[in-house]
Amino acid sequence: MTSKGKINKQDVAKLLSEWGKEFTVFVPSQDAGVATWARWDGKDTSFLEWYRNTIVPPKAIFLPPVEEMFSFKKDKASYQIELPASDEKTPLIFGIRPCDAKALAIIDMTFKDVYEDPYYLSKRNNTILIGLGCTNPYDSCFCTSLYDGPSDVSDVDLMLTDIGDEFLVEEVTEKGKELMAKTSLAEEATEADEVRAKEAKEAAYNKVTRQLDTKDIEEKLLANFDDKDYWEKVAAKCISCGVCTFLCPTCYCFDINDELIRNQGGRLRSWDSCAFPLYTKMPMENPRLEKWRRVRQKVCHKYGFYPMNFDIIACTGCGRCIRLCPVNWDITQALASLPVRAQA
Ligand code: SF4
Ligand code: SF4
Repeated sequence: MTSKGKINKQDVAKLLSEWGKEFTVFVPSQDAGVATWARWDGKDTSFLEWYRNTIVPPKAIFLPPVEEMFSFKKDKASYQIELPASDEKTPLIFGIRPCDAKALAIIDMTFKDVYEDPYYLSKRNNTILIGLGCTNPYDSCFCTSLYDGPSDVSDVDLMLTDIGDEFLVEEVTEKGKELMAKTSLAEEATEADEVRAKEAKEAAYNKVTRQLDTKDIEEKLLANFDDKDYWEKVAAKCISCGVCTFLCPTCYCFDINDELIRNQGGRLRSWDSCAFPLYTKMPMENPRLEKWRRVRQKVCHKYGFYPMNFDIIACTGCGRCIRLCPVNWDITQALASLPVRAQA
């Protein structure tokens, strides 16, 4: 049972200022018209008006599109290596959607539990996640097919629900409770507030109309793994641009390159995509030269291999890959059209 308080929307800036003393606060932001995440500038809360979800998912805070792993300088006899300075404050992400909080928990399984990636963990460890339930999901969202949907609290420390002039605040974790205990800006929620929040959550849940039947999906994919005709048909219109994977909150493929100018440079890690023909070109040839094999890999990684390894589907139903694909490729249509056959 979570405790509940409320925060007046007009006090959000004050609250973020309080938190900013202890944490590096990230909020939804616009960069050249693209909704992304940025450090809070200390005043602007206009995102409360326009924010539905960001185009660039919050994974970019922990696994940036390009990141310098170290810089180096060559002298006559050796290389001098310098590690990047790390932020001394812990990140606090304000307004993360439940689907994107779940996506971070999914990436953690690889970057924290299986392999301890120091670059990821230096930013991700102890992060505070302040969730903001969706009241206005997109047509492409299908989160209710995968978990509790637009108000799911399972991966956040606090969950905010819009109840008009205020946010109802659920204290989900001990960290969340401590945060709320420290501020004088919170009030106790009334029974009427809780009723309004319940109604808002139900309305949001019902607005998610796109559905995907995920029952036995892993087995169905395995049974159809070698069905080249099916995969070729499904892959036909994909142009291998990689947008769906770059902007997917659970995709994490990367490449590493050394950039050298004269005697100095840096080792850079950057996003890569299994949709690209050149992917895994080094140290050997890409084993998936044909497009249908790459599309199969993307779908099976999320709905087959991740469940096999971690007992969870690596898709949150955020719908980015559907609404941002330039040729309207739709993962829910691909999965719904899996041929029914005896499972292997
Ligand atoms: S965004 Fe669309 S076209 Fe681009 S790789 Fe993904 S499915 Fe293919
Ligand atoms: S596969 Fe598509 S719907 Fe699923 S998490 Fe990735 S971008 Fe979102």
